Amino acid sequence: MEGNEPEMKNPRAKGGDEDVEMPRQTPKERVKNFSEVALGYDEEMAIREAKRCLQCKNPQCRKGCPVDVPIPEFIDCILKGKYDEGIAVIKTKNSLPAVCGRVCPQENQCQMRCVKGKKGDPVNIGRLERFLADWEREHGGKIPEKAPPTGRKVAVIGAGPAGLTAASDLVRLGHEVTLFEALHVGGGVLSYGIPEFRLPKKIVQNEIGYVQKLGVDLRLGNLIGRIHTIPELLEQGYDAIFIGSGAGLPQWTGCPGENLGGIYSANEFLIRVNLMKAYNFPEQDTPIRIGKHVVVIGGGNVAMDCARISMRLGAKVCLNYRRSRNELPARREEIENAEEEGLMCNFLNAPVEFFGDDKGWVRSMKCANMELTEPDATGRQACKVIPDSEFDMDTDTVIVAIGQTPNPIIQRTTEGLVTDPRRGIIIVDPEGRTNLKGVFAGGDVATGAATVISAMGAGKRAAKAMHEYLMDEGPRGDSSSNGN
Ligand code: FAD
Ligand code: SF4
Ligand code: SF4
Repeated sequence: MEGNEPEMKNPRAKGGDEDVEMPRQTPKERVKNFSEVALGYDEEMAIREAKRCLQCKNPQCRKGCPVDVPIPEFIDCILKGKYDEGIAVIKTKNSLPAVCGRVCPQENQCQMRCVKGKKGDPVNIGRLERFLADWEREHGGKIPEKAPPTGRKVAVIGAGPAGLTAASDLVRLGHEVTLFEALHVGGGVLSYGIPEFRLPKKIVQNEIGYVQKLGVDLRLGNLIGRIHTIPELLEQGYDAIFIGSGAGLPQWTGCPGENLGGIYSANEFLIRVNLMKAYNFPEQDTPIRIGKHVVVIGGGNVAMDCARISMRLGAKVCLNYRRSRNELPARREEIENAEEEGLMCNFLNAPVEFFGDDKGWVRSMKCANMELTEPDATGRQACKVIPDSEFDMDTDTVIVAIGQTPNPIIQRTTEGLVTDPRRGIIIVDPEGRTNLKGVFAGGDVATGAATVISAMGAGKRAAKAMHEYLMDEGPRGDSSSNGN
């Protein structure tokens, strides 16, 4: 905390003490099932961890939270055993606490700023948030009051973290909100991407249920750009639109042989397993063909999830990443979990070509060794191929997890919407305004693949700007492209 040591309001708290571990399934046990790995705090653990919080007057942790959760306040409620109040405090800012408590990269957000982290372990804010959210799911919660109706209608596109957050903030401000989702289930990546053992789907559905109870009209199976375009929605009487359609288009390596059988994009693999529960085939309808030697290409959360799913489906898995271990973008906790479960990592190499058998299934691949070079413009360590360093690897399944870009359907069907032609993202200002009047966007569709909490922060900022726009605007006027 810059020049401002925390005032200790909580006499039980001391600096430098150890945090409370969260129970987990053992690696041996969990690699055989799809149940949640991390089991959550019980009441005694949560109170013990809450006691570590210094209740800072100027809480730095809160500045690290993109949705501005009142952290010391909710921790204080845990200390006092007022769990219903604690969850209500969180929900003033965050409609998806059970999700955030599980998958937020807390170590780079709120917990990175916690003053306790200077001398030892930061307070486990995410685990405490999860404790309250899980307590509420078991004991039932209240639906907060809404502002009186404003008479304004808003369309939100995409029921991922960005859309769910924008929709719930806007409905609480008194607007009528319709949330259009292309898939038959809401949640976006929370449902189709992040696996059951990190984020159980019943928890995602429960959070979506809360957003619906707030009054959001969720319409599943509605692909905007096909059933209605953005200009048509404005014509139909929506006063403002938020686009939170994410980044669901897979990127490929472009190497020869990539169209062989047994080579999946991470998206296809994850959708089959998570959404269609292919791990439960034949009880579920969708099969997944997985071999014995899986190579996952990539190093982010997506790659780590594909690797851990493959191990649970019985394969030996090798992660091929073109940079070194230090540059792995996945969450530390997930890298450690994956390694404990038996993941082998093969750093500093990139694919060159894939080879198949006479039936067209992948059987091996050629890779080249890489070396790190100077950091690039973003400050990230760059890398380049080492000449004549190629080597072969046997494999019968390859999963390509090297990134996603936004699906272009909305961009292509919205005349005049300014996008970045190289990255396919919609260009917005910091509050989510696009160049089109009344049209806002946020989350992965405006940043490229990022994190749950950054998408939620974008949804929140946009909801605030949309509210101001809606209240300033009076009756809806012309929707032509003239800026906001
Ligand atoms: P999405 O979650 O992609 O949601 C967009 C929604 O819009 C989808 O439901 C989609 O179906 C819908 N949609 C798209 N086009 C249309 C249309 N035309 N009409 C109607 N609906 C449409 N982040 C973390 O913070 N922690 C993690 O541990 C983590 N793990 C991840 C693991 C995987 C496998 C993946 C893929 C991502 C992970 N992320 C993680 C990243 C995080 O999930 C995303 O950054 C976040 O979900 C982005 O939210 P969003 O709302 O912008 O988009
Ligand atoms: Fe921390 Fe995420 Fe909760 Fe914010 S939402 S307090 S960043 S865990
Ligand atoms: Fe202070 Fe950390 Fe508690 Fe936040 S979580 S109030 S920074 S001790």
